[in-house]
Amino acid sequence: MKIYEKPNPFLLHKTILTMTKITVAKGDGIGPEIMDATLKILNAAGAKLEIEEIEIGEKVYLNGNSAGIEPSAWESLRRTRVFLKAPITTPQGGGFKSLNVTTRKVLGLYANVRPCVSYHPFVKTKHPIMDVVIIRENEEDLYAGIEHRQTDEVYQCLKLISRPGTEKIVRYAFEYAKAYNRKKVTCFTKDNIMKMTDGLFHKVFDEIGAEYPDIQKEHWIVDIGAAKLADTPELFDVIVMPNLYGDILSDVAAQITGSVGLAGSANIGEGFAMFEAIHGSAPRIAGQNKANPSGLLLGAIQMLVHIGQLDVAAKVQNAWLRTLEDGVHTYDIFEKGVSKEQKGTKEFADAIIERLGQSPSLLKPVTFNSALSSFSYKPMVHQPEKRELVGVDIFMQSTDRHAENLAKRIQNASPNLLLQLQMITNRGTKVWPNGFPETFCTDHWRCRFKPENVGTEISYDQVVKLMQELNSAGLDIIKTENLYYFDGKPGFTAAQGQ
Ligand code: NAD
Repeated sequence: MKIYEKPNPFLLHKTILTMTKITVAKGDGIGPEIMDATLKILNAAGAKLEIEEIEIGEKVYLNGNSAGIEPSAWESLRRTRVFLKAPITTPQGGGFKSLNVTTRKVLGLYANVRPCVSYHPFVKTKHPIMDVVIIRENEEDLYAGIEHRQTDEVYQCLKLISRPGTEKIVRYAFEYAKAYNRKKVTCFTKDNIMKMTDGLFHKVFDEIGAEYPDIQKEHWIVDIGAAKLADTPELFDVIVMPNLYGDILSDVAAQITGSVGLAGSANIGEGFAMFEAIHGSAPRIAGQNKANPSGLLLGAIQMLVHIGQLDVAAKVQNAWLRTLEDGVHTYDIFEKGVSKEQKGTKEFADAIIERLGQSPSLLKPVTFNSALSSFSYKPMVHQPEKRELVGVDIFMQSTDRHAENLAKRIQNASPNLLLQLQMITNRGTKVWPNGFPETFCTDHWRCRFKPENVGTEISYDQVVKLMQELNSAGLDIIKTENLYYFDGKPGFTAAQGQ
C-alpha cells in the first residue's frame, strides 16, 4: 500500500578533519567539572572543535527566564546545530519549564538514543552481557502536554501518536541498526490495549521493517518486554518505543548495566542534535573534584560520531575503556578487589589522556567505520483516506451515579433527532445499556450517539443540533469527540464490555 523511496542512508564513511562548530553549556552542580574534563580529553585526542559557550540552567531560571535558556543562546544553536550540554539544576517551586523538553521540542529532536552497555567485570552488574541501544520517540505520545481537568473528579492527558512522527522514529531505528551493524530491532508497544495509537506504532514498525530484510525484527507488548529486558538484556540489541515507555525503560536499561552514571545520550533531529549525560547535576558532590565525567564523555563520543570525527571518537572511547580496565575508577564505581586506584574528576580525565592510542584487552574495542549522520525523513507515500462523520461521543458531567437515569434524561431531551443514544461508558467501560451494577462510576460519562442506520454519514449540523437539545435540557456537556470512518473503517474503538 505504501511505498517508501529507497532511503539514501546518509552514511558518513570517512573521518571529517575540518573544524566543526559546536555549542557547549557547562550547566550547574558538577556540570562545569565534568564538562572541563570532557573537553580536555577531546582536545588531547585531536577533536577538531570550535566551541561557542552559552549559559543555561539555574542562574538563567532565577534571572526570570522560565525556560532556563537565554534567547541569544538559540542563535548559537542555530549557527552550530550541535549542542554538548552538561546537566543543569531546575530550581524548586513551580513555573520553571524543563529545558530538556523545551530544547527537544523547539529543535525537533525527535529521537533519543541511549546506548546501555555493561563493562563487566570492571563495573559491578547483574548482567555481564549487555549492549542495548534504546531509541525513544521524543516529541509526542503523552508528552505533548495536552492535559485538561474535565469534571470535578476526572483529569485527562491526551496521547497523540502521529504517522509521520512514528515513521521518523522507526525509520531512524532501522537506519541506526544498519549504520552500526546491529542485527535486530525490537519494538515495544501496548497495542493489545491502545489499539489505535500504539497499534499505529506497531503497524508502521512492521511496514518499515519489511524494507530491511537483513535485520531481525520482533515486537513485544511493553510489560513483558520490559520484564525480559530487566531479566535477560542480552536478548536485545536495538529497541524502539514510544515516548513514555522509552523514558522509563531507558533509565531501567542504564541502571542495570551497573551505573546510570556511565550512560550518555543523544537527542537527534533533522539538522540539530544535542548530546549529554543521562544523570543530573548532583549538587551534593559539586565542586569537590569527585564526579565521574564518563556519562558526559560518552555523550561527547556520540557527538564526535555524529559530526563525522569517527577516528577521534574511537580513540577516546578505547582509551576510556582501557582506563576502566586498568582499575582506574572514580568513587561512584570504585569496588575493592576490582578497582586499583580511586581518582578525582581531573585525575580520571588525565588517566584517559595518558591512554589515548591504547585499546582495552578484555573489553571489546570500538571502531566506527560509518555513522548515521543528518538523517533526512521522507514520508511514506500515503493516500489520504476518505473521512466520513458517522456519529459523536458527547462527554458529560453528572454526579448521579446511575447510568439509567442519565440515559433517560438524554432520551427525553432528544426524542426526535436523527442521532440516537447508543451507549454510555464510564472511564471506558460500558455502563448502559445492560451495565453491571458493580461497575464503579465517576462523574465523567461518555455518551455515544449514532444514526439509527449505523455507518451512514451525518452532517456536523446534526451534531450541533443534538448538543443544543441536550444543553437546553440542562445536561452538562464537557466535550465532544467526532466519530469518523476512514475508507469505510471505524476510526474509533469499541467500549470495554461492548
Ligand atoms: P542526579 O543524577 O544529579 O543524582 C543522583 C545520584 O547520583 C546522586 O547521589 C549523585 O551524587 C549521583 N551522581 C550523579 N551523577 C554523578 C556523577 N557524574 N558522578 C558521581 N555521582 C553522580 O539526580 P538528582 O539528585 O535527582 O537531581 C539533581 C538535579 O539535577 C535536579 O535539579 C534535577 O532537576 C537535575 N537533573 C538534570 C538533568 C539534566 O540536566 N539532563 C537530568 C536529571 C536531573
